[in-house]
Amino acid sequence: MKLLSTFAAASLVATTFTIGTAQAAEFITIGTGGVTGVYYPTGGAICRLVNKGRKEHGVRCSVESTGGSVYNINTIRGGELDMGVAQSDWQFHAYNGSGKQAFIDAGPYKELRAVFSVHPEPISIVARKDANIKHISDLVGKRVNIGNAGSGTEATWNVVWNAMGHTNKDLKLAAQMKSSETPGALCDNKIDAFFWLVGNPAALNKEATTTCEANFVAVDGPAVDKLVGEFPFYGTTVIPGGMYRGNPDDVPTFGVLASFVSSTATSADTIYAVVKGVFDNFADFKKLHPAFGHLTEKDMISKGNSAPLHEGAIRYYKERGWM
Ligand code: GLU
Repeated sequence: MKLLSTFAAASLVATTFTIGTAQAAEFITIGTGGVTGVYYPTGGAICRLVNKGRKEHGVRCSVESTGGSVYNINTIRGGELDMGVAQSDWQFHAYNGSGKQAFIDAGPYKELRAVFSVHPEPISIVARKDANIKHISDLVGKRVNIGNAGSGTEATWNVVWNAMGHTNKDLKLAAQMKSSETPGALCDNKIDAFFWLVGNPAALNKEATTTCEANFVAVDGPAVDKLVGEFPFYGTTVIPGGMYRGNPDDVPTFGVLASFVSSTATSADTIYAVVKGVFDNFADFKKLHPAFGHLTEKDMISKGNSAPLHEGAIRYYKERGWM
């Protein structure tokens, strides 16, 4: 009897020990965006599915609300974030060392890795109805939130506005509030419009259009056609009519894809666990945010990924016969 219990105790210790070494918990953090955007719930959806499998792979995933795409890429580069959500245009420019002065100065970020792309992010310009802004060119002389520093939004604003032959001096105010503050500022008449790139439907766009009278603004014309013709990561699209209160008609615009990125500093096993969490549970993933409704596995691994795919992602995609 005594012998048996000693033996049982010993094997229990041994088992605990084995689990402890083979699956030492690894904590990973995903950089997202403002809490009323779509990056934040996207990171949340990914983590939820990853954490479901934590007993098998030991990875514990959490999200952080951040300033957005450029901040996420820079912070992954600095080794302080494992992964992040980023606009496909800034994924391209970071990898190639182009597009904005800070990326040109830093040089190509060759260790950046794409994991998969996610939802489309059209440019949304939401304006107070009484400001009478129908087209992006009507923003001249207006008070506009162009995006906080570190957002993909602000970086893309500069590209688009400059392509139209303008600088921020052509605005009455170029505000840089973080996205979550903009509906309040719009409805309190502190700004005439806010500009950003975000998936639809977005909580923030809903907040603005239900709190006060606000309309989406058309983003089209020769400068836009030129940009879309020149760069593969841009595409024309619409803000769908009927999606937001007071905006019954489609509004033409253009945009990019959101993408999920990491770097060679994050191990293949970790990325494999993340990708497996998402694609083994793909039907569940798509239900976690309405912006994911049209996603397909094929598009996610073939579009919007201009940096090379991470080797952990490639391992999973090959296993599934997708490449
Ligand atoms: N595309 C935005 C940015 O990088 C963030 C959008 C979101 O938070 O969903 O600035």
